[in-house]
Amino acid sequence: MAFDSLSEKLQNVFKNLRSKGRLTEADVKAALKEVKMALLEADVNFKVVKQFVKSVQERAIGADVMNGLNPGQMVIKIVNEEMIKMMGSETTELKLRPGQATTIIMMVGLQGAGKTTTTAKLAGKFKLKGKKPLLVACDVYRPAAIQQLQVNGEKQGVEVFTMGDGHKPVNIAKAAVEHAAKNGNNVVILDTAGRLHVDEDMMDELIEIKENVDVAQTVLVVDAMTGQDAVNVASTFDEKIGIDGVILTKLDGDTRGGAALSIRAVTGKPILYAGMGEKLSDLEQFYPERMASRILGMGDVLTLIEKAQAEMDDEKAAEMEKRFRKAEFTFNDYLDSMSQMKKMGGFANVLSMMPGIGGAQMKQIEDAMDEKKMARIEAIIYSMTPAERGDPNLINPSRKRRIAAGAGVDISEVNRLVKQFEQARKMMKQMPGMMGKGKRGGKFG
Ligand code: GDP
Repeated sequence: MAFDSLSEKLQNVFKNLRSKGRLTEADVKAALKEVKMALLEADVNFKVVKQFVKSVQERAIGADVMNGLNPGQMVIKIVNEEMIKMMGSETTELKLRPGQATTIIMMVGLQGAGKTTTTAKLAGKFKLKGKKPLLVACDVYRPAAIQQLQVNGEKQGVEVFTMGDGHKPVNIAKAAVEHAAKNGNNVVILDTAGRLHVDEDMMDELIEIKENVDVAQTVLVVDAMTGQDAVNVASTFDEKIGIDGVILTKLDGDTRGGAALSIRAVTGKPILYAGMGEKLSDLEQFYPERMASRILGMGDVLTLIEKAQAEMDDEKAAEMEKRFRKAEFTFNDYLDSMSQMKKMGGFANVLSMMPGIGGAQMKQIEDAMDEKKMARIEAIIYSMTPAERGDPNLINPSRKRRIAAGAGVDISEVNRLVKQFEQARKMMKQMPGMMGKGKRGGKFG
């Protein structure tokens, strides 16, 4: 789990603090010495650590302890606030051009950082926001990069523009922008080539693209597990080509947190998203506040509540309920409710944000979740035409065969899904009032 080792160390420091009645200057200094060690071991940039400890100390010694808090909690509060500051305080959104204007986003980064995967993840986010993204395969050097983008684009239901590996990336980018204009794509995401290390050719190529197409946002993808290397890469890219923000990948495997904590403070550029796994749904908006409470091991209850609220507001729940009752529930609604779950990262992810659920229990929960099954159901629904999704009654045997072929599953699976779906609709109709009890009753159908 992300930040495990750092959280554990910090929690130990705070445990000792908590047990004290009053905090003396010596207590604060001793605790901060340990915090400093923990942060350095977590591979946080040393200048950032120094500044951090200084700020906390200045605020903690001699600070009025707020009503309702003990002195130890007061220090935690200050540490938390300073950590949030270190990560930039506010959540930064990738800036899209307003209305139907096309936004060109250039993805840059070293090979293996997760650029191609993240490009597809991002496209999924934009699609959910009602945009029509176009993914562009500009990585003509890495074997299989183009195909990887195509496969992921298809999984996301997003169009991928390629010209093979026989053209210069800048020309591919230009052609893609023309294509987007004709095709109505309002977000164009360029997946550029990385190298193993920062090198001149790569930078020149990126500069050339920037000079020839109207890039609105340059987004650097870095691997969180590389710690300070990621921070150095970010500084270099920003100096050479200028970046607007960073996506930090593989945070799920990062037990230390050094990159997450230092990038903003060192480069001045915000972290936009965090990659939390290999699945295409594993991309989370970066919230400094929530990240800090995760690092401090306070259990990210905030994220949990907010996610649940954002994903399904009361209005939408009520609307779905009405349709359920009238048996108007369609496969589109089904997709919708599945994507709600996915946006929340599945049950396992939701549970992991609760305080007090440990590694062993998480493992069991994860094993019990059948994500593969969900993916197959989704593939089947995506193989239906919009008309079929809206009116499942249309799905006759020949359509079922076509859907099965499209989804790459056996026709019996399609039969089963359609049948289950019909049964669920019937049941809903026969159970008036079932959904309306709680304010948020029947959230996921
Ligand atoms: P690229 O060379 O930068 O395009 O990197 P890829 O997109 O091919 O990713 C390299 C590897 O990192 C792949 O195996 C991805 O599945 C994996 N990866 C990417 N993002 C994440 C993430 O957020 N978490 C984890 N655990 N793996 C990731």
